[in-house]
Amino acid sequence: MEKFNHQSLSYKKSQLLLDQHCLNSISKQMKTPFYLYSVKALENNFNNFLNSAKENNISKPIICYALKANSNLKLLKKLKKLGCGADIVSGGELKQALKAGICPTKIVFSGVGKTRDEIRLALDCHQEGIYSFNIESIEELVTVGEIAKSLGKKARVALRLNPEVNAKTHKHISTGGLGHKFGILRQDIEKCLKRKSLFKHVKLVGLSMHIGSQLTCLKATQKALKELCETALLVNELEFLDVGGGLGVPYHPEQGVSPINEYMKRISSTIDKHYNQKRPAGAVIPATVFEPGRYIVANTGVLITEVIRTKTSGPNKFIIIDAGMNDFVRSSLYDAYHHVLPLKKNRTKNEYVNIVGPICETADSFAKNRALQRVKAQDLLCVADVGAYGYSMSSVYNMREKIKEYVLGTNGEIL
Ligand SMILES: *Cc1c(COP(=O)(O)O)cnc(C)c1O
Repeated sequence: MEKFNHQSLSYKKSQLLLDQHCLNSISKQMKTPFYLYSVKALENNFNNFLNSAKENNISKPIICYALKANSNLKLLKKLKKLGCGADIVSGGELKQALKAGICPTKIVFSGVGKTRDEIRLALDCHQEGIYSFNIESIEELVTVGEIAKSLGKKARVALRLNPEVNAKTHKHISTGGLGHKFGILRQDIEKCLKRKSLFKHVKLVGLSMHIGSQLTCLKATQKALKELCETALLVNELEFLDVGGGLGVPYHPEQGVSPINEYMKRISSTIDKHYNQKRPAGAVIPATVFEPGRYIVANTGVLITEVIRTKTSGPNKFIIIDAGMNDFVRSSLYDAYHHVLPLKKNRTKNEYVNIVGPICETADSFAKNRALQRVKAQDLLCVADVGAYGYSMSSVYNMREKIKEYVLGTNGEIL
């Protein structure tokens, strides 16, 4: 715990601070459990991402933040101000992005199951529709064409390649392999490109990919991107290549820092070598679309929770907290590691405990066999790095009410 080195969390005189603001004082005004997000960390992450793209000579980077990681309106409005676009996967996310003021011309729409209503909504929300429908099957392409025709419009589309790579991440969040439901196989894209009738009411403006989430090994990304570039050479001219999201973040103190620079470097060199240098005569260098979710928000959020009681059962000690897997499911669903820190340090020796929620499932666990100082009922704990796939995956299981989200402004004010 002592080694924990975090961008926004630190201790001062035994008090845990978020951006230099005492979490104990902030928590006095709130009912636990609750989420708290740092605007400062959000801005930092967005700027780091964009700057890293620029420093690595990525041409015309366009950042479409993946709303599904965290669709909090206040955070979205901040991102919009920074010039960020959106990657959406439902009509609900489209409405939320528009509510935050994000322009439809900066919105890409992913997902294998876009309904006719959702497609119509996206085509109708702006004269030119959205920036791109990232198409996941030929069947979907036909449907988008039909709806565009009925509205007298031409839909902008990108074909999402299934590059048949095996991204080394948790099996629930690997999305680029043969047998996964996502994307279109290269041979099917090739066949589809020859069928001119498919493109009467849609305009092919890009190609896209997304091979999974929490990626730390960049080999699969590079291999998939090479496939994407080779496929792109079959098209006369494209406005953009969409490299998807998925860049991993460190959750464990021993994971070090995010490989953002290496990621950008590889994307830049792969596109340069396999597309730009070989592109069809007269074709312009395409823009590069990114769809980061986790990288932008993961370390911006903390979950503050109160210890309800402790319990000893044979050799096992349980710390039962008032947050459950319905409020935050990553630890239960993906066996994800999240650091847990006391809001106030005491001088007791660490003991090994299981930190669990109140839900009637054995899976309802935040940490197993974790070293933690001695805690008692009513002590407050902080679960770190919960900004991505935290609240957005929460539910009302066990008829528990959805918990509140607060945003910490750059001056320490609660927004
Ligand atoms: C989930 C998703 C993302 C974001 O993934 P992260 O791991 O949060 O960066 C981007 N694009 C698509 C198509 C997705 O499904």
